[in-house]
Amino acid sequence: MQVYTAPKLNKVEVTSDFWKRYRELVVKEVLPYQWKVMNDEADISIAEDPQNNGQDKNSHAVANLKIAAGEMKGHHYGFPFQDTDVYKWLEAAAYSFGYHPNPDLKKITDNLIDLIAKAQDDDGYLSTYFQIDAPERKFKRLQQSHELYTMGHYIEAGVAYYNATGNQKALDIATRMADCIDNNFGLEESKIPGYDGHPEIELALSRLYEVTKNQKYMDLAHYFLTQRGQDPAFFEKQIKADGDSVDRDLIPGMRDFPREYYLAAEPIKDQKVPHGHAVRVVYLCTGMAYVARYTGDKDLLAACDRFWNDIVKRQMYITGNIGQTTTGEAFTYDYDLPNDTDYGETCASVGMSFFARQMLNIRAKGEYADVLEKELFNGALSGMSLDGKHFFYVNPLEADPAGSKGNPGKSHVLTHRADWFGCACCPANLARLIASVDEYLYTVNEDTILSHQFIANEAEFDDGIKVSQTNHFPWSGDIHYEIENPNKASFKFGIRIPSWSAKYELSVDGAAKSLPVEDGFIYLDVDGKSMTLDLKLDMSTKIMRASNRVKADYGKVAVQRGPVVYAAEEADNEAPLWDYQVAADAKTDYHFDEKLLDGVGVVKIAAKREKLDDVNAPLYTEVQNEDTENVDLTLVPYYSWANRQDGQMRVWLNKE
Ligand SMILES: [Zn+2]
Repeated sequence: MQVYTAPKLNKVEVTSDFWKRYRELVVKEVLPYQWKVMNDEADISIAEDPQNNGQDKNSHAVANLKIAAGEMKGHHYGFPFQDTDVYKWLEAAAYSFGYHPNPDLKKITDNLIDLIAKAQDDDGYLSTYFQIDAPERKFKRLQQSHELYTMGHYIEAGVAYYNATGNQKALDIATRMADCIDNNFGLEESKIPGYDGHPEIELALSRLYEVTKNQKYMDLAHYFLTQRGQDPAFFEKQIKADGDSVDRDLIPGMRDFPREYYLAAEPIKDQKVPHGHAVRVVYLCTGMAYVARYTGDKDLLAACDRFWNDIVKRQMYITGNIGQTTTGEAFTYDYDLPNDTDYGETCASVGMSFFARQMLNIRAKGEYADVLEKELFNGALSGMSLDGKHFFYVNPLEADPAGSKGNPGKSHVLTHRADWFGCACCPANLARLIASVDEYLYTVNEDTILSHQFIANEAEFDDGIKVSQTNHFPWSGDIHYEIENPNKASFKFGIRIPSWSAKYELSVDGAAKSLPVEDGFIYLDVDGKSMTLDLKLDMSTKIMRASNRVKADYGKVAVQRGPVVYAAEEADNEAPLWDYQVAADAKTDYHFDEKLLDGVGVVKIAAKREKLDDVNAPLYTEVQNEDTENVDLTLVPYYSWANRQDGQMRVWLNKE
């Protein structure tokens, strides 16, 4: 049997028009805008809901660092984790240098590294809230403090910045932080036998391990994952010792959540399903997948599988959004997927993308890449407006401005993207995902190069191997590959056949070829100088239904074409949108409109519309045959909604 060794991936250039537009937007609009906001130089208003924290026009995130560095006087402002906005922004900037070198921006980021280094304590500690206003409380209220979460975000940024620029100082800050954490946490007598209420440090330490190869950091990440929940009362004991009074709380109300909310009620290996805060869950899962791969810990891998299955099979919206309730930004229960009160935090979709990518590193399974694609083209991407300056925190699947305004239970559901948030976790989180999307296109396992995303690109591997993928995805399913292999290396090339494309056609060097789909992939043996592949995916418009266990979607249909989920908006269709019915076999028509919403595929679908009752008609009447008219509903991609006038939107349409 022939033994393959896959060549190492060196560089990926994204050539997809769709993603190039977003990635340039990050450079030209998103990063400058967010930098101004974090320096309190932008004229913005902060959304009242969700997560306002009583803030008005200030982020103060850079000022907090300046105060900690001794460059400014004053108090800390904002959430205890306010620093993370800066770190995620820095990480996004670092990725952007890989495709758009920008000396002016680099001056800013180099100076920012200097500022962060200056703010860091001698022992490596850095969390400006505690340094400025509560130095005696460091690591004393971990349920709420987010200190390791905050430092984890710097570590991720530091690693990315070092990788992009070679700036040693950026990496040194990260290793000093990790050393500080290592000195303070563990099972030795003098250390804290605990962990952070918000997972993140685990995945961050894994990334630091990848760049430094220092086993200490992997061991520490493993410690945090296996120690979690060993003493279920750990947080309560800390709070008691730090001062039980509620005015000692760092984030009001946080102590009221049950232990499950923090994934700390029992050791992770015993947790059957993920509970609580959706972002915590997916960050934890990402850390578990990293550490399971590097340590071979089977309990952690089993937990990854359990949590993945529960989320994807029972708690995920068709758009990839997760987290069904605003209360605690959390999961609720299986098949509970309300569309108009859901949370679907942008960060949770970003985190789910991280998790999917790490699972792909463990196993070549198309399902992981399907979910990654679902997030990239729907749930995550909807977090940002087409102008790059407005953001969703919450991503509903059904919205009505009247409901958001008039029903307090829906006040978290904005129908237009906001300038900024009191808790501004989402905007820069999405920016760093978009800026690093080149890192999500291939997975190289020991004997195989997997091409699992249809985002056009040029990739360079060791041994002179080049893979070029061209297409007009997600609007067209014609995918063209050119593989150059000048030294005739032997390897396997796997291509995902997406779950939405039940059929496909493949030709290799012009000759039709049929290959079995194994766990979502087809595989080709490559050992010649070049190979040309043409893949045709099924881009027919699909009328979808949810499992009939999902009450909220019962008797409803949604429209999907390729990976893109569609939505009806009031901008294209006369309100109210609940007044339309679509047959399961309704006629659909698709066209690409390059002028609309920066270029989108538009679906028209035949529908029936009931005549709306007169406002003076009685509220309740006996059922009669309703007067209906035949109309066409116009649908646009979900990610592009709310870029025009304020109005209703819905993904799930009533079935005729
Ligand atoms: Zn967020």
